[in-house]
Amino acid sequence: MCTFPGRRREESMGLRFFCYLSLVLLVWRPFEVGAHDDPMIKIMEDFSGYPIHEPSSSMSLSVDSQSLQKQIDELATFSDTPAPSVTRILYSENDVLARRYIKNLMRNSGLTVREDAVGNIFGRWDGSQPDLAPVGTGSHIDAIPYSGKYDGVVGVLGAIEAINVLRRAGFKPKRSLEVIMFTSEEPTRFGISCLGSRLLAGIDVLEKALKRTADGHNISFYDAARSAGYAHNQEDLTSVFLKKGSYSAFLELHIEQGPILEEEGVSIGIVTAIAAPASIKVDFEGNGGHAGAVLMPARNDAGLAAAELALAVEKHVLESGSIDTVGTVGILELHPGAINSIPSKAHIEIDTRDIDEKRRNQVIERIHNSALTIAKKHLDIMITQDANRQHIQHGTRANARKKQFLD
Ligand SMILES: [Zn+2]
Repeated sequence: MCTFPGRRREESMGLRFFCYLSLVLLVWRPFEVGAHDDPMIKIMEDFSGYPIHEPSSSMSLSVDSQSLQKQIDELATFSDTPAPSVTRILYSENDVLARRYIKNLMRNSGLTVREDAVGNIFGRWDGSQPDLAPVGTGSHIDAIPYSGKYDGVVGVLGAIEAINVLRRAGFKPKRSLEVIMFTSEEPTRFGISCLGSRLLAGIDVLEKALKRTADGHNISFYDAARSAGYAHNQEDLTSVFLKKGSYSAFLELHIEQGPILEEEGVSIGIVTAIAAPASIKVDFEGNGGHAGAVLMPARNDAGLAAAELALAVEKHVLESGSIDTVGTVGILELHPGAINSIPSKAHIEIDTRDIDEKRRNQVIERIHNSALTIAKKHLDIMITQDANRQHIQHGTRANARKKQFLD
């Protein structure tokens, strides 16, 4: 579940991104690349600012879209819920089977497969200069409950097929190419998103936290990982950390999660920024009472405080000045939650995101202040900011990952 605004932008991009785009297009274009007046080539040239040197006409770049679709459908059958939904939770039986399926596909494509201690899977195609840092591409295959079959999967299976395409065309890369399947992009089981990639990026706070981490059934992270065949050395996951410079570039192909490109009829876009999330949890505590007995001037209604804050979230987000600022009140719980009882407690969780960290933090600050102002109306208040915030201050999760790989 990656988050990006999905909007086309006109900023000029570096050569590296042009290379990314080329690889993406290999995946998405089930026909031969050739004609000079190809509009896609023109877009790529305009976007990158570099001329495109097309492959020689003898090189046929043709995606086997039928078998790719078949693989996507087969992978979707490893699910805890019936089709068309997909539920694949980290280290579950279906996750292990799906991992086996991916590793087999990688081997069938001639890739050398290795796994690290948390189950990040790497399929490598050695280039003619294998000492050069490889180009990595990939995504995740874990799936939140009742999700679809494309999220993440396209980035893994698409990458394998891209390599198949290049092989069929007789291409031999200079740098090695690596398909990466990241472990646990979704936080479903242990409440930690991008678990595998963050460990790859060397986040030692996470490595330590995992020693104390358990799921909702009190199964520890280590026990769960071991049941799936990983984490044999309980005391040390630092072996997962990558050295800086391990990759020369990284590309992730991902479905659009919003409706913008689809509505505009655009088949592909390039992510130029990632909306970093931050969340705030607020607990209001007021006075309960019987809905029929306590008159309005005497009330101290925690539910109304939460409602006021929800509206304040919308106001502050809309006033940010950017369409890229979003805010969501996804959780609002009232206690005791009876129709004839004045809420004595209200719990509200707010998610805010923006591609601009400073702007997003201003919105958080205003929400925070609104919560305090509302609480001055005789309510007690407790505010906690999500742990995500810590990562955000160092850049978005994905950017942090990318940065570490590329430095
Ligand atoms: Zn995803």
